Amino acid sequence: MSKYLEERVTQVHHWTDTLFSFKTTRDPTFRFRNGEFTMIGLEVDGRPLVRAYSVVSANYEEELEFFSIKVQNGPLTSRLQHLKVGDPIIVGKKPTGTLVLDNLLPGENLYLLGTGTGLAPFMSIIKDPETYERFRKVVLVHGVRQVNELAYGDTITEALPKDELIGELISNGLIYYPTVTREPFRNTGRITDLMKSGKLFADIGLPPMSIERDRFMLCGSPEMIRDTRQLLVDGGYVEGNHGEAGHFVIEKAFVEK
Ligand SMILES: Cc1cc2nc3c(=O)[nH]c(=O)nc-3n(C[C@H](O)[C@H](O)[C@H](O)COP(=O)(O)OP(=O)(O)OC[C@H]3O[C@@H](n4cnc5c(N)ncnc54)[C@H](O)[C@@H]3O)c2cc1C
Repeated sequence: MSKYLEERVTQVHHWTDTLFSFKTTRDPTFRFRNGEFTMIGLEVDGRPLVRAYSVVSANYEEELEFFSIKVQNGPLTSRLQHLKVGDPIIVGKKPTGTLVLDNLLPGENLYLLGTGTGLAPFMSIIKDPETYERFRKVVLVHGVRQVNELAYGDTITEALPKDELIGELISNGLIYYPTVTREPFRNTGRITDLMKSGKLFADIGLPPMSIERDRFMLCGSPEMIRDTRQLLVDGGYVEGNHGEAGHFVIEKAFVEK
């Protein structure tokens, strides 16, 4: 039996020259937990060419959505960026990943710290009603280099608060904090610096970091993961995984080759 389901592209949106997202049909047998990733890709010369992708859509939505980089000469994304509505796409049947609520100890505030396409898994987590049952405040921090890379900003601030199912929970529980490193913007600087200086917490009106109260999910470049994990470990925070829940969990948004 094949490891992949064949889906069809239903929508494509290009955010910038290097970022795009797309929606696909969803086989009813495809189940996942919000925050997970799966292998997706194209059949090339009769063989699957797949890469890991976080699912942007929530697990109750009818279609699947993915948010993608366009890597010049990247084996998959040099092709994937040309996707058109109706094109086939293969989706691995076994989603997995550590960025799930069950891997975190109970707490008061949940910080979702993402850079670049590391935003993707957090889009499904902020749409999950259970996130707001477990945490009083959910803080979504998205770090990018340029302002136009703040994909989904309008979805988060305009569309989701009006959503029938999740709108009220998002309006009351979600704090969105976009930050830019290489252009002027209302918030600037790297996530780790904003945490170290306390500026992030002051800006959003929440108390300084506390191991009793705060839980973290990290998804970004290997460098961002390394620095933020160090900051947390130095503060005594313990990393969680499928075996044991912790104060924080991590997933690399991509792997350097
Ligand atoms: C757990 C996990 C989840 C992932 N989720 C996503 C996702 O939701 N969206 C997504 O676009 N990618 C995601 N990736 C990366 C993805 O698997 C591929 O690397 C990416 O699609 C590029 O594929 P490629 O074949 O074109 O190039 P590859 O040969 O896979 O990558 C070439 C190089 O491009 C750079 N690169 C790759 N992906 C990224 C990225 N996302 N951002 C910045 N630089 C990158 C790296 O330097 C990498 O060495 C994820 C990776 C992992 C491990």
